[in-house]
Amino acid sequence: MGLAEYNRKRNFALTREPPGEAASEARQSDSALRARQFVIQKHAATRLHYDFRLELEGVLKSWSVPKGPSLDPKVKRLAMQTEDHPMAYADFEGIIPKGQYGGGTVLLWDRGTWEPLEGDPHRDFAAGNLKFRLKGTKLQGGFALIRLKPSGPRRGEDDGRSWLLIKERDTEIRDEATGIITDDRPESVATQRTLEEIASDRSHVWHSNRAQIDLSGIAGARPAAFPKALRPPKLAARKSPPEGDDWLHEMGIPGERLLCCADGGEVHLLGPTGTALPPAAARKRQAVADAVRLLPSATLIVDGTLAAVAPDGHANPKALARTLSGEGPDVLTYYLFDLPYLDGHDLRGVPLAERKALLDALIRKVAERTCLRYLDHLDGAGADFFREACRLGIPGMTSRPADSRYDARAGWLNVPCTAKTRPRPRKTVSGRS
Ligand code: MN
Repeated sequence: MGLAEYNRKRNFALTREPPGEAASEARQSDSALRARQFVIQKHAATRLHYDFRLELEGVLKSWSVPKGPSLDPKVKRLAMQTEDHPMAYADFEGIIPKGQYGGGTVLLWDRGTWEPLEGDPHRDFAAGNLKFRLKGTKLQGGFALIRLKPSGPRRGEDDGRSWLLIKERDTEIRDEATGIITDDRPESVATQRTLEEIASDRSHVWHSNRAQIDLSGIAGARPAAFPKALRPPKLAARKSPPEGDDWLHEMGIPGERLLCCADGGEVHLLGPTGTALPPAAARKRQAVADAVRLLPSATLIVDGTLAAVAPDGHANPKALARTLSGEGPDVLTYYLFDLPYLDGHDLRGVPLAERKALLDALIRKVAERTCLRYLDHLDGAGADFFREACRLGIPGMTSRPADSRYDARAGWLNVPCTAKTRPRPRKTVSGRS
């Protein structure tokens, strides 16, 4: 593989398309007028509730509605926003095993399509005021989801996750005095079964921890419990790139090293030494945890660099600081380069090149519109790669032995670009240095 080919394919990983372009592309394929899926799943978990899910931005935006939807416009139902779910979840009816995240019985209560009543649904969702029409089997007509402004003594506690679900006035309304839709129609829209019938059927059990990636036959993969402690390999600084075909070279990303551990639906964030981030720092990086949760395995550990791409198309530390403090138009991107644990298997003894191949396959399975990106590499040709990295104005490169284990003796290197190794900027180039 030549460098030109590498750069043609990979520059986006560092300099990506400007956010404006990415957004307009998203709108094109997710046009405001297109009918999207909706699904309501009745969920007998610790407490019975209805999960209200609307397809938007390539995922199912989700709310937990304790009392379920009402057709009476006078009734306002509390809807707590929960994490995005993958589109594949829209078809699920069955049992989530006890002890797993959301364990309990799930009944497909209603489903169909939805469309915005007015305006741009992306903007209205972000603004917390989304009006839409449902075309389902049980629910029809206009509804509104209105985000509550945090206030009073609970201010700050729910992070703006409380919404109200309200029926709009139209021909599809029904006064609750004359009947309640969730009582009248308790059955599954898919199978006409009751919750009890589904609960007694063991044939539909959802194992959210199935990565659908075959780990048998991977030398070095060891069935093991989730590691209690993790020591991420460190990068030693070096002045010149290592030579030889048994090295994998990656572009250096100006950002912060971040590990994510997903264990049974919970995602924990760790810093470069393997210790948990403080709660406030983890909250600022909530979008990363949400994206990692969409990967098709409930137990995994990924290692990567969190960066923010500024409107000029380049990742830089200032943009990251801006984004984490909730300001600026920058796009948060999590570049993943390692996978030490997956789906009940310790992969720390698997050669790096194979861990990366598994990671690549895993990331391909999630919606393209998450902030997750696979950080690709070049095999060998370190000197050429280094020259190219410096020419592109990237901080440097990372070189890792293709067969390295994920441990203290991994032998990973960081080769920074310096004033000496960078070609002199041409006079005609203005702006960035
Ligand atoms: Mn639920």
